[in-house]
Amino acid sequence: MKYQTASGMRDLLENDLILFNKITKAAEKIADFYRFKKIETPLLENSEIFEKGTGLFTDIVEKEMFSLVTKGGDRLTLRPEFTPSVVRSYIENGMQALPKPVNLWYAGPCFRYERPQAGRFRQFYQLGFETLGAEEPVIDSLIILVCYGILDSLGIKNLTVQVNSIGCSACRPYFKKVLVSSLKKSFNSLCQDCKKRLKKNPLRVLDCKEEKCERIKRACPQILDHLCRDCHNHFKALLEFLESAGIPFALNPYLVRGLDYYTKTVFEISQDASLSQGSLGGGGRYDDLVKLLGGKPTPACGAALGIDRIALLLKKEKNELVPQEKADVFLAQVGELAKQKSLALLEEFRKANINLAQTMNKDSLSGQLKMAAKLEAKISLIFGHQEALKSEIILREMSSGKQKITTLNKVVAEVKKQLKMG
Ligand code: AMP
Repeated sequence: MKYQTASGMRDLLENDLILFNKITKAAEKIADFYRFKKIETPLLENSEIFEKGTGLFTDIVEKEMFSLVTKGGDRLTLRPEFTPSVVRSYIENGMQALPKPVNLWYAGPCFRYERPQAGRFRQFYQLGFETLGAEEPVIDSLIILVCYGILDSLGIKNLTVQVNSIGCSACRPYFKKVLVSSLKKSFNSLCQDCKKRLKKNPLRVLDCKEEKCERIKRACPQILDHLCRDCHNHFKALLEFLESAGIPFALNPYLVRGLDYYTKTVFEISQDASLSQGSLGGGGRYDDLVKLLGGKPTPACGAALGIDRIALLLKKEKNELVPQEKADVFLAQVGELAKQKSLALLEEFRKANINLAQTMNKDSLSGQLKMAAKLEAKISLIFGHQEALKSEIILREMSSGKQKITTLNKVVAEVKKQLKMG
């Protein structure tokens, strides 16, 4: 029997983790600068949080949740995204009483039962930012700036931010009616999914990538022409902020994003202005979500970046793999007694913060010295049976091949001296 990871799941090996850490560090740096506080929420939440928050008629809730019922009968779901969890935590932990806005950021795995393909996994990793308690459009632009800044600091070129406004509870219901009556004229030509969407979530038709639906939607009225004054002014101000921040953006009147909770601003960031490869990240404003999940009415805005996709892009663009491993010191051990005595010695080196490599399972000295050369060690310590008996060790300077003997209790100090460590 040969076991494999479950479909859409993968192991992250050293090369992946190097990139993942690099991406998360880039985010942390920017989060610190803009004073976002880190938050960790549980992987499992009560299913209702996503059903209510993300929305019953979204693809995520309809088709993609990994859910279970506990022995006690609780319905739980592995988070498919962070925002409803963060909002739940904001309410539950009394963060509504904190000075506003409250800025939070996170990073971790999410789970969606999607058809696995390039850049689309069932366990994937997101990092994201949420600002709760502020309604000004400058906040939306700051969230975009933070996401853009992270990708830019990682050296990703040709980024475009696609932006749209999907209105609010005042203007969207009216637009939905206008849209539905326009779409009904071409009902028979819509794809099967869009026929269903028309009833449950008509805005999602605008998002459809099927060619026949694309043609139909281009003939439809556009939401930007139907925004209420407040949404219109908010959107106009956002574009001005983006312009003055020097962020390359493009209006995309068909961008609605899959989630129910957005109000006003929605955006996605991708490379080369194309969303066909899937976006690197996206987000928007969600002024009604805190109230929907039981909190006081609180305007908010946030976004998430997909770590897996960014890592794939960095790998493709720069071939960024494991940096060549190096060591300052190599400990070569020959014989059982030397190996036995080495363990205590290794601990001394570890506590002295010396970058030392060794191999426990090779006996040939020449093989070990070859390895030391490969790791570009400055010093090799040679510890054989004779030396172990006398509690001594040979110190070999690799560049000159010069060797000297020192006692075991002085070797750490001697190595430090040669490496010119304080
Ligand atoms: P969303 O929460 O759907 O707005 O997704 C935000 C970002 O997460 C996307 O732009 C992707 O980069 C990433 N993402 C979403 N779903 C997946 C997935 N199944 N596999 C890999 N990355 C994903």
